[in-house]
Amino acid sequence: MTGAPQGLQDILPLSPLQQGLYFLSSYDDSALDVYNVQLGLDLTGPLDTDRLRRAVEALLTRHPNLKAAFRTRRNGDPVTVVPHTVDIPWQDADLSGLDAAERDRRVGRLTEADRHTRFDLTRPPLVRFTAIRLAPERHRLLFTHHHLLLDGWSTARVVQELFALYAADGSPTALPEVRPYRDYLAWAAAQDTGADERAWRGALAGLDGPTVVAPGLDGQPQAVPPARDVELSPDSARALVAAARSLDVTVPVVVQTLWSLVLADMTGRQDVVSGTTVSGRPAELTGAASMVGLFINTLPVRVRIRHDETLAELVRRTADEQAALLAHHHVALARIQKLTDSGGPLFDTLCVFENYLVDTGPDDQEGSETKEFAGLRVEAVTGRDATHYPLTLVAAPGPDGGPVLRLSYRTDAMSEHDVVRVATRLRRAVEEFTADPHRPLPRTDLLTPEERDRVLNAFNADTVDVEPATLPVLFERQAAAHPGRPAVDDAGRVLTYTELNTRANLLAHALIAAGTGPEDVVGVALRRGADVYVAQLAVGKAGGVFAPLDPDQPAERLTGLIAGSGATVVLTHSGTDHTVWSGDATVIATDRLPEGLPDHNPTDADRRAPLRPHNGAYLIHTSGSTGRPKGVLVEHRPLVDLIAWAHARFAARPGDRVTQFASPSFDVTFAELANSFFSGATLVIVPEEERAGAPLADFLNRAAITLAVIPPTVVASLPLDASLPEGMTLIVGTEALPPEVVRAWADRHRLFNAYGPTEAVVNSATWEVPAEWTGGPVPIGPPDVNKRAYVLDSALRPVAPGVLGELYIGGPGLARGYLGRPRITADRFVADPFGEPGTRMYRTGDLARWNERGELEYAGRTDHQLKIRGFRVEPGEVEARLTAHPAVAQAVVTGHTDHRGVRRLVAHAVPASVSYTHL
Ligand code: AMP
Ligand code: MG
Repeated sequence: MTGAPQGLQDILPLSPLQQGLYFLSSYDDSALDVYNVQLGLDLTGPLDTDRLRRAVEALLTRHPNLKAAFRTRRNGDPVTVVPHTVDIPWQDADLSGLDAAERDRRVGRLTEADRHTRFDLTRPPLVRFTAIRLAPERHRLLFTHHHLLLDGWSTARVVQELFALYAADGSPTALPEVRPYRDYLAWAAAQDTGADERAWRGALAGLDGPTVVAPGLDGQPQAVPPARDVELSPDSARALVAAARSLDVTVPVVVQTLWSLVLADMTGRQDVVSGTTVSGRPAELTGAASMVGLFINTLPVRVRIRHDETLAELVRRTADEQAALLAHHHVALARIQKLTDSGGPLFDTLCVFENYLVDTGPDDQEGSETKEFAGLRVEAVTGRDATHYPLTLVAAPGPDGGPVLRLSYRTDAMSEHDVVRVATRLRRAVEEFTADPHRPLPRTDLLTPEERDRVLNAFNADTVDVEPATLPVLFERQAAAHPGRPAVDDAGRVLTYTELNTRANLLAHALIAAGTGPEDVVGVALRRGADVYVAQLAVGKAGGVFAPLDPDQPAERLTGLIAGSGATVVLTHSGTDHTVWSGDATVIATDRLPEGLPDHNPTDADRRAPLRPHNGAYLIHTSGSTGRPKGVLVEHRPLVDLIAWAHARFAARPGDRVTQFASPSFDVTFAELANSFFSGATLVIVPEEERAGAPLADFLNRAAITLAVIPPTVVASLPLDASLPEGMTLIVGTEALPPEVVRAWADRHRLFNAYGPTEAVVNSATWEVPAEWTGGPVPIGPPDVNKRAYVLDSALRPVAPGVLGELYIGGPGLARGYLGRPRITADRFVADPFGEPGTRMYRTGDLARWNERGELEYAGRTDHQLKIRGFRVEPGEVEARLTAHPAVAQAVVTGHTDHRGVRRLVAHAVPASVSYTHL
């Protein structure tokens, strides 16, 4: 602090929070400045406005920092400039002649206008007064200032002093000496930055990201944020104080910790950071309590939630962690942020403790009390201040010392509904804490019993009783019901139900003769076409497990899949050269069956063992992150649910024509079958060369398709001006359905978004685009019939609608597991804590949230799994293959989406050794 130039009394550095506020208020100068603070004072009794102005002048002489303005130096650093003298902006308004209604309206208008008039931060002073005469002995005084000058604590003092000076008619001796604000700035400048940095770096070490409730929100709000109370019962407020006392922690620490639980719930994070306001008055600075200025600071509070602790332990650990930072409260937030890996904002919520500044603050605050000064009574101080944060929790001491909690929120970031939910969560957190703070954390539950019942039961209410059965039995019923109807149409070559059934019977008997029985895996290496479906039915009829193999994959991979699945029989086409991969397996060419096979429906009498609904039906391989594909084994029983789903949602009937689009290696083919063979309809094979774009549109028309099951990328390839068969239903699934696709087709066709991991058997949730859809999220829909969906946090607790969690699928229709892989099966198929004893749920790895209608919204993955043209890819599997190559030391595989929206798999590899002479 050097000598001030002409006309200036002082040039000062900025306090930590001043730096942040200055940046915010100066870079966004079009919007409302939420850091304008307006106080309304009701004055009764005779008011002498000249005398009041003299008191203001005396006040500004007493506290030169109240005359300050802010400038930016050439090097970009802001400084505080304090002129010797300033003109105090003062406005008098006499409304005493108006009737009450008009007067109130005018007061409101004046107040609003004053609230919204920005200060030019470069032009001192950043205080102004408006004295409104309401009646001869009634006045409203508006005292408005920029938050850069004063914190709430100081404001209360300033009001107190102003009227003391009024009573003494501006005589400075009326008040005791006060230590100047510049002493605090000098103190702050002299602190040991090394120790500060070490403390904050340690406090934030290992933090893996910010805690953000309103991503993408920037700048200041356009309107003054409204507020909403968190309605705590007096009992729980009292209980909170008692529990805090029994744990020997302060109420603010408890509130801050519970708030962090709510933020964890809102954001799905376990390592939570929120902001808090600290008093910032250093205990070692004598006289700090009566000083006036901006001492408070906004600091990050990090709370790491550990499931092996109790709530009480978490609160106590948080209290200790906070206490260790007490000596480092004067560090500017921007500096703290620079110490973290990201260097960016750490939080977007604030927790403020009004009048709770227990650490070093004074205890003589009396700002809002009624007082009398020279015959003038000062009443009802109404303060309005706000923050730019999207969500702020304000805690103030209420009756009995229990906290009164209030949430203020930016309307451009959240709706009132959202805030009600946050308030409910916080109330629950208080109730859980007070009910038993010594319970393990995973057992605390932020849902109300009604909410819990809603997400667990009401949202999963779609159930029907189905008769357990096997696929061959169900198909044979259809074949008997529709003998002459077309079952498969492969480029005009049609098989009736009877023909299809007979061919499947012949092949089934061949399989039985080759030794296939229940639980025996049969590899099926056939290209798309009617033969695949003959084989699928035949394997089922023999009792075996259908395991598709793509004959166009590398021989090494096929050999691996056959060995891994234990298949001893392989079905293929006589034209396929299988010798390089089939090994010891018995190979049957489906187009060269021996003569003389029986053609009746095989029964248990024919089969090598009885076939039951819980026997395996198919084995589908999916990518495995450790480098080995995983075989998902699905039994017959859940396929009955799949058929029930198809009937309930799409109701295909004889005469309907359903696309066969999916590769046989995908379980989606079973959805195609459920809608065709198991509905009496016709499965129409889409020719290989017509699987996208205009040719596909032509095909759909030519083939008179009524129900098409296709992935989103393929729908997106259809020309927008194409007209597809009238009345055709589109089922789109396997990856996220973009809103553009919905917008393009939903007004012309019934459109469904179908979601389902292979492990939960083809499909788990389905959303039909409603007629009134006008944009916004594209849900994956409510859970399918007999499926249960849970959105859970990391402690497997259900979360409320709107909250992101991991999606689990339960119900009877799950896969049996990964064939021959008990460890990874146990990892992904876990006990269902909400279902009947013994039931399981599958952990999908998908992030999702419920909406209020009980529909799920998909929100990405918890891991690195990708979808590339419908293929599920674990980058780890590809990385493992790459690094197995002797020339590759390291590899990273990611999905890269180009400017046209096409996603590709991209590998980056580091060579094992590089010879630079050849580069
Ligand atoms: P798969 O086992 O090959 O069917 O892949 C299942 C995964 O695909 C799911 O866990 C999701 O990540 C993704 N997926 C499937 N259907 C959808 C959908 N309709 N919307 C978003 N993602 C989907
Ligand atoms: Mg699927």
